[in-house]
Amino acid sequence: MIPTMTLRPFERVARDTTITRNPRFFGPEPDHYCPCGSRRKARSCHRAADHSWVAERPRPLITGERTGYANPNCYGRAGNDCSKSMTREHFISAHVLQQIRADDATIEIGGTTWIPAGESRAVGINALTSKILCARHNHALSPLDNVAGQYFEAMRLDAKSMMSQGRKGEFPCAFTMICGPMLELWLLKVLFGAVATESIRLADGAAYRFRLGVTTAQLTDILWRGQEWPSRWGLYVPTTPVTGPTRMLSTHIRFVSVGPEILGGGVMIAGLEYLIAFEPPNLPAIHRPAVITFQRRGYKNWKMAALCWPEQGHLPINVVSQRGRGEDSYSPPDDSVGVVDLGRRFGR
Ligand SMILES: [Zn+2]
Ligand SMILES: [Zn+2]
Repeated sequence: MIPTMTLRPFERVARDTTITRNPRFFGPEPDHYCPCGSRRKARSCHRAADHSWVAERPRPLITGERTGYANPNCYGRAGNDCSKSMTREHFISAHVLQQIRADDATIEIGGTTWIPAGESRAVGINALTSKILCARHNHALSPLDNVAGQYFEAMRLDAKSMMSQGRKGEFPCAFTMICGPMLELWLLKVLFGAVATESIRLADGAAYRFRLGVTTAQLTDILWRGQEWPSRWGLYVPTTPVTGPTRMLSTHIRFVSVGPEILGGGVMIAGLEYLIAFEPPNLPAIHRPAVITFQRRGYKNWKMAALCWPEQGHLPINVVSQRGRGEDSYSPPDDSVGVVDLGRRFGR
């Protein structure tokens, strides 16, 4: 039985890089201040009894009456809630692009199952700009862009800090807390936008469409109007050991399709993939993970990301790099995210 608790709002990213390791707990201790800055103890703020992190469901991005206008050039037009003017934007926000600018950022096309296949085609992100949203729909998404940008920046800094350690010493612990539903919506936005640009086509030339049973009206209401996701849709983080080289500082977007139908897709950043799925993916993955802990063989400290959901009971993921001390993690081939150890409850 999961006890009920008061949910507090949290629609952003909070970070604590001064946190120290305690052998009894991963993450901030229940009796310490909550990382959100409320000056409450974590256990009476965002830390739940099961050691996951919880927050009130975020407010819908757009509330109130619909405009009744469907702008034919806007991918949110199914919501009948557009403005007349259009905007020009990357479907990946400028902030996130800044995080990945130095990287080899690519869009990977293809793959007929959820298991990443070798065959793919890469498209540069900068090729994918177009007018795809009306001003009203576009402006409403900026909180998601801010949250995702800060989160991915934190994950990249953490990966860099862990992997650039020499033979001696420890990397510092770090804790990052993010509103889980906002990260999930940002990923939906990226996927939705990438499809809407129609600049991405399958090898056989078939136009992308979402799989049968996924309507753009439904996705529009999930994204902008706070409609609940159907059960088992949404964010998944695969827990399979990464096969083949993983470049820690590379970013890519992958689409999962069967024929012309899109089953989902995801963003790979700092060695971990964040998938949006419209059905449970056929690979080992955790739906809406509670926390993602990053560790490295030979080190005691950790980096941790907590995703706040509006309920308890979500599962943790531990990612353990098998790169030992003094092993260079930047020279390819880099298999630094090698083992994912599931089910190990933190704080126990
Ligand atoms: Zn708090
Ligand atoms: Zn619109």
